[in-house]
Amino acid sequence: MPVRCPTCQSTIPVDDVDLSTRLGKCRGCNSVFELGAQVVTASPAAPLVPPRGYAFETPASGESMYRDDARGKKALVITRRWFRYVALFLLLFCIVWDGFLLTWYVGGLTQGAPFFFQIFPLVHVAVGIGLTYYTASLFLNRSRIELSAEHLNVSHGPLPWPGVKALPLASVRGVKVGPDRRWWMQNRNQAMWAVFVETEAEVKPVVRLLDEDGARFVGTAVARALELPDPA
Ligand SMILES: [Zn+2]
Repeated sequence: MPVRCPTCQSTIPVDDVDLSTRLGKCRGCNSVFELGAQVVTASPAAPLVPPRGYAFETPASGESMYRDDARGKKALVITRRWFRYVALFLLLFCIVWDGFLLTWYVGGLTQGAPFFFQIFPLVHVAVGIGLTYYTASLFLNRSRIELSAEHLNVSHGPLPWPGVKALPLASVRGVKVGPDRRWWMQNRNQAMWAVFVETEAEVKPVVRLLDEDGARFVGTAVARALELPDPA
């Protein structure tokens, strides 16, 4: 784009334009002027690098993290590994806990223990099953955040886990990232983050329980796929 002097309208050679200060100088009329809207430096969006535990499920062919769906809109799949180091501690705990219960029942059954001894640890059995399932999920599960032209889908697997949802995207006007207040109220030591979408009527969380880096990454990827501004 040619730059023109706002005073005398002559064309300014590129050597007399300084992009860093956004100033130009005109040798014709000996003036200095601001480039202003004559030169729009579109800062290229920084490429998105998935933080630890997150990944793009890229299409087989493309280098882009986005694939084009049938209608030519951007589609996107992000996976998030559940594994955290606390899983190692929980695994150890489950082995001890479940091992104790197993010993209790094997001992009770082989030695003909009274009925009371068999129902006494039922609460412990329930805790053991729940905790073991949770621990296995931490090792095995991934969340899948899938964006198509119409919906944002969040699902978890391979071990079934609640919290599967599909959000229609037609009404989305913006994407935000911030602390998840609902969780914050319950666990004050642990700030969990969420990605929110803004519609005409409300701002609601769509992906919850993320770390800050993860939430910023997911929010930015979703916003770019929807061609909305990056979340602040
Ligand atoms: Zn001039």
